[in-house]
Amino acid sequence: MEQAVSPGGIGANLAKLQDTSTDAQIPSQHDSSSTQEASLSGHSPEVAKRYARTKISLGILGTLVFFALTLVLVATGATRAVEDFVRSFVSNNYIALLAFAAVLGSVEIVAAFPLRLYSGFLLEHKYNLSNQSFPAWVWEGAKGMFIGLLVGTPILLGLYYCLRTFGDSWWLPVGAIFFFVSVVLARVAPVLIFPLFYRFRPVADGEIKDRLVKLCRMAGMSVKGVFVFDMSKSTKKANAAFAGIGRSRRIILGDTLIANFMNEEIETIVAHELGHFKLRHVWAALLVGTVNTFLGLYVTGEVYGASVSWFGFSAIDQLAALPLLGFWLGVYSLVTGPVSNMISRSHERAADRFAVLLSGKKEPFVNALRKLAVVNLSDTSPHPVVEFLFHSHPSIEKRIRAIECISVDVKQ
Ligand SMILES: [Zn+2]
Repeated sequence: MEQAVSPGGIGANLAKLQDTSTDAQIPSQHDSSSTQEASLSGHSPEVAKRYARTKISLGILGTLVFFALTLVLVATGATRAVEDFVRSFVSNNYIALLAFAAVLGSVEIVAAFPLRLYSGFLLEHKYNLSNQSFPAWVWEGAKGMFIGLLVGTPILLGLYYCLRTFGDSWWLPVGAIFFFVSVVLARVAPVLIFPLFYRFRPVADGEIKDRLVKLCRMAGMSVKGVFVFDMSKSTKKANAAFAGIGRSRRIILGDTLIANFMNEEIETIVAHELGHFKLRHVWAALLVGTVNTFLGLYVTGEVYGASVSWFGFSAIDQLAALPLLGFWLGVYSLVTGPVSNMISRSHERAADRFAVLLSGKKEPFVNALRKLAVVNLSDTSPHPVVEFLFHSHPSIEKRIRAIECISVDVKQ
């Protein structure tokens, strides 16, 4: 779901589609700074495999570090010491909670920093995937963290309030809060959060704009305009998406996409995004996410309630015990991750099919996907187990094979 945006995860969301240095079709929109850098065609499939493997290993390592750190802090009594320390000068429970979270959050940031630096910055540069300077990377991370704080603080306070007020049934109101926040975020993020990271300008009248507006009209969707944003300032990756709702809905294209893809390739990529919209994948994902949230909170609540006493805590709303709740929530999402990935992959397949049937263009779509695969350094045929566990999109090879099986009147 390229449209679903989480705070701080914008980079990751935008990183689904990648660019390459091939035929730029729109001289007026051509951004020379992004084309001159984006030459990755020299990378072999082995290099792509190595990059994908490193990324996955680092992801697994990061998760293990988080779990181990949390368990160590809880089991050694460190969280208890932090709680005592905080309570020695704060009497209000909620302020104590925020101070407690600030201390533990800082520990997490410091502990995870080397991995984040390596995976998010050094590795991207090593494989020539990033345009970002180190200060720009830090600044983007700081902005993401700030938005995370802005969204996370009320959620944390609400969670704590529910734990104190509703006892064992805390998961029900907390699930409602999560649902509310995810709906609001999905609406608000493209309008309020996106512009904090990127600058937008309208795409001038011309062939690409006409094509895309016509495509949307064919699918029965009205769009307000086509905009380009300065993705090339931070990455060589490229993406397209729909932003806004109702009459204010617009198409947004990364400048890297415009600079490096043929018009008809961009058309098929936008048609794929259109597929997600017309097939109501956003709503399906929201529904699945909601069920998953309530179920997850309930199951986690049961396990958490049982496990507080293992570590000698007296109540579920004890500050020192709360990281344990985070631990179990992490375990739950790790276990159910493959299920959400499976649903996501089926949505991707449906959107691919929609794109081909709507645009009537198989070859440009296949070319676009191949380009993305080459420069994205995506592993085009990952091990099936790896794909099942970790991939939200089917492998490029599988997508191309499926597209080639669709029978269609080819339009020119
Ligand atoms: Zn998609």
